[in-house]
Parts: sequence; structure tokens; C-alpha cells
Amino acid sequence: MTSDATRPAPTDEVVDLCRDLLRIDTTNTGDNDTSVGERRAAEYVAEKLTEVGLAAEIHESAPGRANVVARIAGTDPGRPALLVHGHLDVVPADPDEWSVHPFSGEIRDGYLWGRGAIDMKDFDAMVLAVVRHWQRTGVRPARDIVLAYTADEEAGSDYGAHFLVERHRDLFDGCTEAIGEVGGFSYSVNDSQRLYLIETAEKGLDWLRLHAKGRPGHGSMVHDDNAVTALAEAVARVGRHRFPVVVTPTVRAFLEQVSELLGIELDPEDPETAIAKLGPIANIIGATVRNTANPTRLAAGYKDNVIPGRATATIDCRSLPGQSELLEAQLRELVGPDIAIEYIQRQPALETTFDGDLVDAMSAALRAEDPGAHPVPYMLSGGTDAKAFSKLGIRCFGFAPLRLPPDLNFSALFHGIDERVPVEGLQFGVRVLDRFLRTC
Ligand SMILES: [Zn+2]
Repeated sequence: MTSDATRPAPTDEVVDLCRDLLRIDTTNTGDNDTSVGERRAAEYVAEKLTEVGLAAEIHESAPGRANVVARIAGTDPGRPALLVHGHLDVVPADPDEWSVHPFSGEIRDGYLWGRGAIDMKDFDAMVLAVVRHWQRTGVRPARDIVLAYTADEEAGSDYGAHFLVERHRDLFDGCTEAIGEVGGFSYSVNDSQRLYLIETAEKGLDWLRLHAKGRPGHGSMVHDDNAVTALAEAVARVGRHRFPVVVTPTVRAFLEQVSELLGIELDPEDPETAIAKLGPIANIIGATVRNTANPTRLAAGYKDNVIPGRATATIDCRSLPGQSELLEAQLRELVGPDIAIEYIQRQPALETTFDGDLVDAMSAALRAEDPGAHPVPYMLSGGTDAKAFSKLGIRCFGFAPLRLPPDLNFSALFHGIDERVPVEGLQFGVRVLDRFLRTC
């Protein structure tokens, strides 16, 4: 690849693009009044696309909540389009907790540091670097590629992917498949072999509020109908409950391949023993064999000596594919008849199979750049913009390729302190994506 001023190599340019994006603070607090930067980031991306001749449009869902969409025309109009999506917002970061300022985009020890470095301005920058290189050198993909850079993924995507899907559906005409976060990253088995986890499933998002009602009263009196007490009992039952293990096809395929490669014995009745031996990724995989329900917020009362009439708690539940209704029934039984359940967010789980031409193209691109690559399917315990795009019938994968050093605890970096991406990993990702997007 050439590397002069007019035609920078995409593997060089990706570092600058990612750094620029990291320096734009796009903190999403979940509140329009305090979320910042998405408009600036969207303008930056749109400018980088239009600069090389692509028509990029900004779509705002609310003031400042900006999304960018562009379409690259393929050479074969008979083929369906591929959607490539990445969000531009990030979760908050407290500079006092970090080794470097989270919005400085500093390069240190071979890493590019900053909030969003792996979630997911790295992928945003990789895709920009690849398509800018194509535009400069006259490369056209076989199929149409729709690029979507979204707002608001970190707070449920109402101002981002869901807005685009509901209000600008035509932008995705012809898209049958998609790639986005969180997949394609490596996990070292030994010096010569690496698993690459490709997301083919993700858990459902079932955020709910528990409401307890009681009789308001004076804090000094005997009182047998206290909303705080009732709520606390229900929250404790939910928080301590362990839902039964259910192994879905994706998790089964993952565990079978991984245990064979690692030489771990896999008991299908007790997958958690095998999962516990996976080291840092046990955190990710462990949450994909059962429904989960974690209490996250409590609210009640307004004065120290007044018993309130109401108390509420928020529970972050994540359901396995096809289990959302069952989870609701399980929760109703746990909290009992006197506690009301209100859903704040309910987005279904996704699951697709690990086969077909697109999967073959991903696997081939990984193996071409890393001969020790073993692509495996896995289920993400969190949710992504794929939930919104799947409503259009699009088959979604998590494929943001990154080769990681063996000692890096990758899963801890998501929303974590000192989030950073290896510079070589970014460059690897560009090479894989370039190959994949040309051939898929
Ligand atoms: Zn993300």
C-alpha cells in the first residue's frame, strides 16, 4: 500500500481517524440535556465521507442527536445490500479514575487510549479508513454497502438506530445482512492459535420497574403496610435468584468448538464448569446460559420520618432467545402479587445460524490475516443496535475484527476505566475489513 500525503495507507489513517473521534466527547448520559457531542462526531464522519465523494446525510432525531447514513453503490445491482453500522456515542468516563484523560486520544505503550476506543470508535474509524481508501483508489464492492453511524446506542437507541428504522426505513432498502459490534475480536488459545468470537446471537433487553404500594404514615408509629419494606423484600428475592441454565444452539456451538480446541471437558448438563475455565471471557459467556435479573436503582421516600406510600426499583433483566415471556412469568412469581411490574424497555433477543456466504467471507478474511484464526459463533450478553436493524428483517452479526494481545482483559475494557485499543489491532481490523467487504 502506498503511503504518501495524498493517498495515506488506510492502516495509517485509521489511527488518526480513531484518535480524532476519541477526542470528540460524545458522552451519552441517557438524558438529552446532558448528552453531548453526537452532532460534532456526525459532522466529522459526514465530512470524511463527502471529502472522498460519498453522499453522506445527517439525520437528527432531536437537537444534537445526529446519525449519519451513506450508501456505496455496488457493481452487481442484483445482489442484496450489506449494512455496516457503528454507534458514535460513548458511556460517561470520570477523568479522575483514568491513567490518561478519557478524551485525549493519547497513544501510549502501543495503545490508543480513550472512552470509546473499543466501544466503538475503533470500528467506526476502521470502516471510514477502508471506504476512504476505496474511494481514492477506485475500488467498488460487489454489493451495495450502507454505512450507518448512529447516536444513542448506549441508552437504548431511541434517538439512533430505532429512530432510523422507524422514520427512515428507505435508507436500508435491500439490506439483508449487517455487521456491527461486538464480535470479531481474538482470544488467544496459545501462541499460534486464536479464537475469533463472531456474534451471532444477543440476549434480549428487559428493563423493568417494580412498584410497591403501601399505606403512608408517620415513621414513629406501628405500621404493617410499608411500601419500602415490601419493595426491599421483592428486590432481594429477585437479586438473589439464579435462573435455570438453558443452552441455546449458539452457546452449544461455541462451547463445543472451544472445549475441543482448549482440551476442556464439556458436560452439556453443566456448561458452567467448562465456562469457568475460559479465563477473562468467562464473564461474557457465563451470562449467556441463563436469564439474569440485576437490581440497579431504588427510589422511595422524601423525608426521614415519613413512611412513603410508594417505592420503586429498577431491574436490569436480560433474557435468552425465546425466553422473554418465561422470564416475565418467573419474575411475577418471585415478586409476588402485590408488586406491579412495568416494562421500561423490552427488546427481544436475537439468534442466527453460523453459516452461509457472509460467515464464510468473515472466516476467510480472518484466516488470511491470521493463519491461526479459529472463527467461532457466540452470544453477546448485552444488546446492540442490531436489535433495531433486525426489525427490518436484517440478519445481524457482530463483526468488528480486532487482534488482541493474549494478556489483555478485553471484556473489562467495555465501559471500563482506561479503555484502550492496541494500535496494531486497529490496523489488523482494517486489513480484515478491507478484504471482507470487498469479497462478501
Ligand atoms: Zn457499543
